[in-house]
Amino acid sequence: MQSELSIRLNEEGYKNWVKAGFCLQKIRDCLLGFVYTEMEKFHQRLLQTNSYLRQICKNSCRPQATQFQRACSLCGEWKREILTHHTNQNNVIYWGNCSPPLWPIHAWEVAKVYMPRGQSNRQGPEKCDVAALLNLINFCDQFDFVERQKVIEIIKCRNELMHSVEMSVSAKWLDNYRWKILEFLQEFRHIPEAKAADKMIKEIALSNWQVQITEKDTVDALKITDEINADMIFNAELELIREWVKELCFTVEEQEVLHIQHLNSLNTFKEFLKQNKELESVLHQEVEHLYSLEQKLKSGIRTVNDQDGEEWNLEEKEHNNRKDM
Ligand SMILES: [Zn+2]
Repeated sequence: MQSELSIRLNEEGYKNWVKAGFCLQKIRDCLLGFVYTEMEKFHQRLLQTNSYLRQICKNSCRPQATQFQRACSLCGEWKREILTHHTNQNNVIYWGNCSPPLWPIHAWEVAKVYMPRGQSNRQGPEKCDVAALLNLINFCDQFDFVERQKVIEIIKCRNELMHSVEMSVSAKWLDNYRWKILEFLQEFRHIPEAKAADKMIKEIALSNWQVQITEKDTVDALKITDEINADMIFNAELELIREWVKELCFTVEEQEVLHIQHLNSLNTFKEFLKQNKELESVLHQEVEHLYSLEQKLKSGIRTVNDQDGEEWNLEEKEHNNRKDM
């Protein structure tokens, strides 16, 4: 087990990937409290400027995914007001993220309109991932003081990290990303938590840890600084893998077509688990989800090769692989 750990965490590309994930999580942690306070202010502002919004919806209005056609007059007014403050009116809105009857009561239900899909069960900011927070900052004009391009750059990096087929990024990528993060955090320099995160991000991105097995087969403490220790890194690693798998499953389920890059990601993950058996039990839920998804694929979803548009199903692909061997 220990040697699996040292091989994994000493591999250059994977190490960079984990470091990048760690930085992303620091961004999320440092902005949670601030973003929540801003959304409370935003909510208060809406209620004060339009007192009709304080009424209670009596129709239990419920949107579906991106559709919210049958809104009562109150929810319709909320919908109009929320859209007025959206920075991109042409964007797809995931109305299904929220429960409109809660709009007059909970600021976070309003915040969820500005986020990507999949937020319906997340009742507060502590349940949100970094993508949710970044999208909120990008799309709600309460955050007009932030230079939007800097937010967009971080969203792009986050997506590249989550869609990395090999769960790996280059040193050059990491360096470029580090600069983008530091520029982004400059926009929040008035928040003490952002200052602390800035320091930690510099330390982790520039560190060059080496996990070593001693004679007693114990792992040398993975201690970067007084504040960044082995536990933090392992937790960041697990959180990143979970996010990566979740993103993969989400994309495949939504598209109902398996692009070749997703098939490759699926194979990467299976191979990764084979080499890191101790993670298999920790990532039990994710593994289950992955296997059920694989079953579903075998029972008929077709795959698409992005390069030449060629399609084949999983059995054919396996057959082709055998021919190559
Ligand atoms: Zn309603």
